[in-house]
Amino acid sequence: MPPAVGISNQGEFFMSITTQIAKNGDWEKLSLFGPINEDAELHLPKLLQALGAKIIVNFKAVESVNSCGVRAWITFMRELEKGRSIIFEECTADIVGQINMIPNFRGKADVQSVYATYTCQHCGNHQQHLFVKGKNLPQTAGDGGGDVACGKCAKPTEMDEIEEEFFAWVES
Ligand SMILES: [Zn+2]
Repeated sequence: MPPAVGISNQGEFFMSITTQIAKNGDWEKLSLFGPINEDAELHLPKLLQALGAKIIVNFKAVESVNSCGVRAWITFMRELEKGRSIIFEECTADIVGQINMIPNFRGKADVQSVYATYTCQHCGNHQQHLFVKGKNLPQTAGDGGGDVACGKCAKPTEMDEIEEEFFAWVES
């Protein structure tokens, strides 16, 4: 398997997925960096043996997901969820799209937090807004994300996605 080409650990540019596993109390945090593509098929299964019973998957630095990557991820999840508790956190809007379209992408994982992209109609600023379960995540999709002010000009912003579709997964 070729090594991932990366500029830094911040997830700016990777040719293939890289992962990092860190202890987080009782849990282990599996952080993903770069694209989830065909290389994930080789990389992900190798992680299974190293992972314990409680896993937090962090999607914050995932740049993109393609159809090969989705297939590899679903195969990985099927094995990962055997006997394990799984939490998804900091899902990007791309990942939320997959969760909404393909129930197996999430499997039995508990989705704790997701990023939505908002655009300010006044100054054009784009910003990420984190929704956290038990805090600001809506109870039903129809509730939507509520008002999110622009970080630059403080005017109201609009979500790039249709809110009711973006939050469809909260009811499943
Ligand atoms: Zn603005």
